[in-house]
Amino acid sequence: MTQSVILAKGSFSKDFAKRLIDYYRSVDGGGSYAERKLRQWESEAGVVLYEARRGSTPAGWVVYKPESSAIEELIVQKDEAGLKEAIMDAVIGQESLVSAELLQKDMGKYRWMLKYGFRPTRRFTRDGSGLVKMDLSIAVYLRKVKGKPPAKSYPNSEKVIIEKVPPTRSPEELKGSLMNLIDSLGGLERFVKQGQNVVIKPNVVADHGFREGKYHGGVVTDVRLVRALLEILLPVAGKVTVAEGASINRAETGKLFEHYGYDRLKEMDPKRVSLVDLNADGLIRKTVPNGKRMLSREIPLTLEQADVIISVPVMKTHFAALVSLSIKNLQGAIAPLEKYMSHFFGLWQNLINIHHLVKPKLVIVDGLTAQENFGPVYGTPKTMNLLIGGTNPVAVDATTARIMGFDPLLSPPILFAYMQGLGPVEPEKIQVLGASIEEVTETFKEAEVDVSGGKRFLVYDGGACGGCRGYLHYVLKKLRRPDPKHPGINLIDRPFEKRVSVFLGPETEVEPSPDETNVFLGICQQHHAEAGKHLPGCPPHAEVIMKGLYSLYPDVERPRYADEHAEDKLEKMLMEVLKEE
Ligand code: SF4
Repeated sequence: MTQSVILAKGSFSKDFAKRLIDYYRSVDGGGSYAERKLRQWESEAGVVLYEARRGSTPAGWVVYKPESSAIEELIVQKDEAGLKEAIMDAVIGQESLVSAELLQKDMGKYRWMLKYGFRPTRRFTRDGSGLVKMDLSIAVYLRKVKGKPPAKSYPNSEKVIIEKVPPTRSPEELKGSLMNLIDSLGGLERFVKQGQNVVIKPNVVADHGFREGKYHGGVVTDVRLVRALLEILLPVAGKVTVAEGASINRAETGKLFEHYGYDRLKEMDPKRVSLVDLNADGLIRKTVPNGKRMLSREIPLTLEQADVIISVPVMKTHFAALVSLSIKNLQGAIAPLEKYMSHFFGLWQNLINIHHLVKPKLVIVDGLTAQENFGPVYGTPKTMNLLIGGTNPVAVDATTARIMGFDPLLSPPILFAYMQGLGPVEPEKIQVLGASIEEVTETFKEAEVDVSGGKRFLVYDGGACGGCRGYLHYVLKKLRRPDPKHPGINLIDRPFEKRVSVFLGPETEVEPSPDETNVFLGICQQHHAEAGKHLPGCPPHAEVIMKGLYSLYPDVERPRYADEHAEDKLEKMLMEVLKEE
């Protein structure tokens, strides 16, 4: 039975203490865990006790720690079918993505949390008690928040400018279009004061935009646009740094700068224009306010010391995120290990965490040549001749997604940012100036994702989100190639002696068989880790899936997604970090 529950902040009452101690008497023998936790919660600053009610009837309590977004306790007055789930729904409605901690021996709670959609991501001991950290599956979270209002509503309206650029795109025309856009937002003086330190963060992700001696637009930010922006900035700024940390060819940002002609930007004013590889920059660790998943992030000093950051992403589709725009552009603003850890602990939430710490003052989406199909790298260029700009990344991305013919809330990075109060997506809260959306909209082709298996290679998709599906597609596509050992068939149809079963998503109904080779993808399948090969992450990094699935074909050379040595090194570094925790 669905029961609507309201949460209100309360205080640690005698009723709560009594119920808690009663509950743990059966779970924990003497109930000393409950008494110790009560003392801790009452003495710790910032711990919130929510009283859950249905109408005027008390239904239960939730102990919540906002600094780590963790539920430390959820207890009901009386066990009733569906009540705990209804309270959990209310917590997610109020706090967005949450995690939980529970006693390892509390198997009853563990089982219902598993059924709800939480997964065990860490087991540890604190104050002599064995605990489990449970993280909510993002696929389940996406279903829970669909169509719901944001946990934290963004209070303001935002302006977004859509500027049409002449198709000839001469340097003067690009500069003129940028000037129009900046003037519509209040003029350059609103963003940059005399002598300030400005950082431009373009999107220079991979070398694929320049191949076989030919430039293919839509993969990286057009260097001509960055040049035009520099011309506008240099009369005012003290110095301008073009900073990027390539996300795919991670060891090679410098080479990519040369590849696309970014290195020649320095010639505009060698003393005041520089290029920085954020993947090799100094770092400062910062705490994420009300952190979710990764509670702190290392931020490159170049960004930390900037007076003004201008984000210049490309208008493109993304095989897992639907679109890759300004919110996604900050993935290139963090160090390689941080990028790798983002995947491990939850890519979309960790991306949003960066936006709490790095705040571009101005966002200009390069929609000169955009990219559709299997973006952000292997898609097809699409000429749009547009610039889309504003001061709020969520409003800019929502508007750009609409121009591309997409519902912005179907893109997880935009949805997460909206749900957590970073900006508006509602059309009535976004004032569009310049061209209208209707005037310039073009339906972009989405990345087509196929996760079907082969004859002895089965894929069980239990409601996985676009993350695992997109990254798995990418690897399976490589297995849809001729098998050198079995002429006439593809690798994916290899007649394995033991059948291969790949499980993804939170709701797989088929039980893994001990007689098969089982592969489990991501946090959603974490609870099965011991029944086969578990590929960790949310979504697991492409390289992790590649390594995991190609280990089934020891005779076949594994294709590379990114820099092989860098990935192996990062995996080792991450394991060290996890050991230290
Ligand atoms: S583990 Fe995969 S399916 Fe599950 S939430 Fe993460 S990306 Fe989505």
